[in-house]
Amino acid sequence: MTKVSEVIEVLELIAPTEYQESYDNSGLLIGNPHAEVKGALITLDVTEEVIEEALELECNLIVAHHPLIFKGLKRLSGNHWVQRCTRSAIKNELAIYAIHTNLDNVLGSGVNGKIADQIGLKGTSVLVPKSGLLSFEIVAPALLRNDVLAAIAALEPMELIESDIRPALPASGAKPGFKIEGVIRPHKKNAVGKIAQQYNLKVFFNKTDGYHPHWGSGVLGELELPMPERSFLEFLKEKMNTQIIRHTALMGKSVSRVAVCGGSGSTFLGASIAAGADVYISGDFKYHDFFEADDQIVIADIGHYESEQFTSELLFDIISKNFSTFALHCTKVNTNPINYF
Ligand SMILES: [Zn+2]
Repeated sequence: MTKVSEVIEVLELIAPTEYQESYDNSGLLIGNPHAEVKGALITLDVTEEVIEEALELECNLIVAHHPLIFKGLKRLSGNHWVQRCTRSAIKNELAIYAIHTNLDNVLGSGVNGKIADQIGLKGTSVLVPKSGLLSFEIVAPALLRNDVLAAIAALEPMELIESDIRPALPASGAKPGFKIEGVIRPHKKNAVGKIAQQYNLKVFFNKTDGYHPHWGSGVLGELELPMPERSFLEFLKEKMNTQIIRHTALMGKSVSRVAVCGGSGSTFLGASIAAGADVYISGDFKYHDFFEADDQIVIADIGHYESEQFTSELLFDIISKNFSTFALHCTKVNTNPINYF
């Protein structure tokens, strides 16, 4: 038996909710975290059609990328599609969980890492890293050295420095000890605290300006072999399975460094130019934003839905690797609200 909360726990080990942007509303939006998962459906968007599909498949959990409830709900009378979806989910005891910008903000297993894999980018790093790593310091008796070190090392800290502490006066009765200093991403703070508590040790945390290579927005990487701009656009169209790419003027250069931010990414155009990218792949660019390419980069807007379409696969892989007690499906509904004619 698997509870809704256990599925959430696994997802949040990869993309902790505290990594979501301030405007976002990721997390469990509807439902009981203690309910047993009978079946789960993965989707980019929750629509009435997706809810119907979940009920037909006897799923009582929907894992979505975009939060159904985003700007807040003032009534549930049913004259808006979000209200109808919410009512139907509550009535049918369907849990709805959203993993949105927190999944965008982790490289390796996040949305942008998936796009980078799809087009074969090498040497990837986060385009706009987040600051706010925590440094920590634990002092422990020498006897505990191996146990504490092993427990901390298992949390994947960025750096780990250990040093001996020898009493100044051996006759004073003080025992030799050691100090561990390290740097972690903020979501590991509780885990470090638990280790310290387990061994009855004191731990001190400090916020730093440091960056983690896997925490932040967008991704930057290099193509294995440079290609002419036009060939790159053709390649991109095929790899991202998109009908249309809206792009700025080609500059007659070859493409080797590529910046990516799936979804609505016009905010990171400046960072892509500063990083020396030849092309910036994103979605949802507005008319005026295209001017900002200013002959310094080629913007390739592949569409919001299209840029995130592989996110369902990513979520499917994470959940199916960890659970086998319930049926897992990816939606067959094309939730893209934009049609091309
Ligand atoms: Zn999106």
